[in-house]
Amino acid sequence: MEDKYKSLLGEIKNPESGKSLAEEARILSVQQKETDLYVKYKRDGISPTQKREIETQILNVLAPYFSSEKISITTVSETSQDIYKNINPGNISPVNAAPKSPVANAEIKVGHGTSAGKKPVPNVKKVIAVASGKGGVGKSTFTVNLALALKNKGFKVGIIDADIYGPSVPMLLGKRDSKPKVNDQRKILPIESNGLQFISFGLFIEENDPVIWRGPMLGGVLNQFLFDVDWSGCDYLILDLPPGTGDIQLSMVQNTVVDGAIIISTPQDVALLDAKKGLQMFKKVNVPIIGMVENMSSFICDGCGKSHQIFGHAGVANAVRELETDFLGSIPLEIDLRLGSDRGEPYMNNPQFKDRPVWKAFEDVSNKVHDYFYGEKKAGFFSKIFK
Ligand code: ADP
Repeated sequence: MEDKYKSLLGEIKNPESGKSLAEEARILSVQQKETDLYVKYKRDGISPTQKREIETQILNVLAPYFSSEKISITTVSETSQDIYKNINPGNISPVNAAPKSPVANAEIKVGHGTSAGKKPVPNVKKVIAVASGKGGVGKSTFTVNLALALKNKGFKVGIIDADIYGPSVPMLLGKRDSKPKVNDQRKILPIESNGLQFISFGLFIEENDPVIWRGPMLGGVLNQFLFDVDWSGCDYLILDLPPGTGDIQLSMVQNTVVDGAIIISTPQDVALLDAKKGLQMFKKVNVPIIGMVENMSSFICDGCGKSHQIFGHAGVANAVRELETDFLGSIPLEIDLRLGSDRGEPYMNNPQFKDRPVWKAFEDVSNKVHDYFYGEKKAGFFSKIFK
């Protein structure tokens, strides 16, 4: 059967050259291990957009035989200078790691697979994780306003505020003093606010309590938020992760089916570097990256009307090409976004801002996120727009 899969995959065309993958000898191996299939191909000379197209086709061709969760795609590059060169394949979880081969070049799991231990969140259509390399880049502000933009499109949206260091969602949604209750099936009921549902570490600790959540305790609480809260009927459940891209964040996502991740960054180089680590982290645990968002990308001055690039220009938009991911948009700086956040009256729930650039930016990002999952053009679509 492996030979059959290999010859089917060989017929896929490289969109750049028009030649088949077989003609270009790109399919390096196809191996079945129990119910999983591991495909390894050579991706030298293939752009991020084309890579997405090829991988979508790989999944389509194999769809009659394997569901996408059972397919792991690994790429090998002999010439690429990309950041994944340094990833030690030994770090990749053994359940998902592609079979070792004598090729000594970099290998990266590009993640359509899920590890054996991953559990889906019941009755939730899509789980999205929002991460940032460091704190203060606007991750929680973004999470809440993306959730509202999706809600404005008619979807039911929930938020898990898993930011143990600074759980700010209760404040952003004006519900600092709420105390969650359980229903008769002992399920925790999420708090309702501004047409959203949410749960937060902040609702279970006092504001000045020292943060002592560690290791197993933390994982346990997050699991409770995912699986013991009544999220039934949510179209989107957005996970606001703690800032950073280390073990804590990794352990939070590795046991749950997360359908896609968004990395948010400011245009400054240092934040960007951290964001790159975030991409690597999600790839390691096979969470697909929806794309990156640039926050605080420009400031439109009330006085002179000009747009000022306070933290540099188009840093994230440029980086996504190198990082083989998509650019979801830029959110400008706006004082009303901050003021609304401080007051617990979120921006995207206030129609008086409808014509402002920030409103449009959130709408745009929410459209792209929705299209990522349900749109016709899916793979490579956004990169094409921003080329
Ligand atoms: P993080 O979750 O990354 O720590 P926050 O969402 O708490 O960051 O945002 C940090 C601060 O920046 C908050 O005061 C927030 O209101 C403000 N902020 C975030 N994004 C913007 C923006 N685009 N324009 C104006 N203020 C912003």
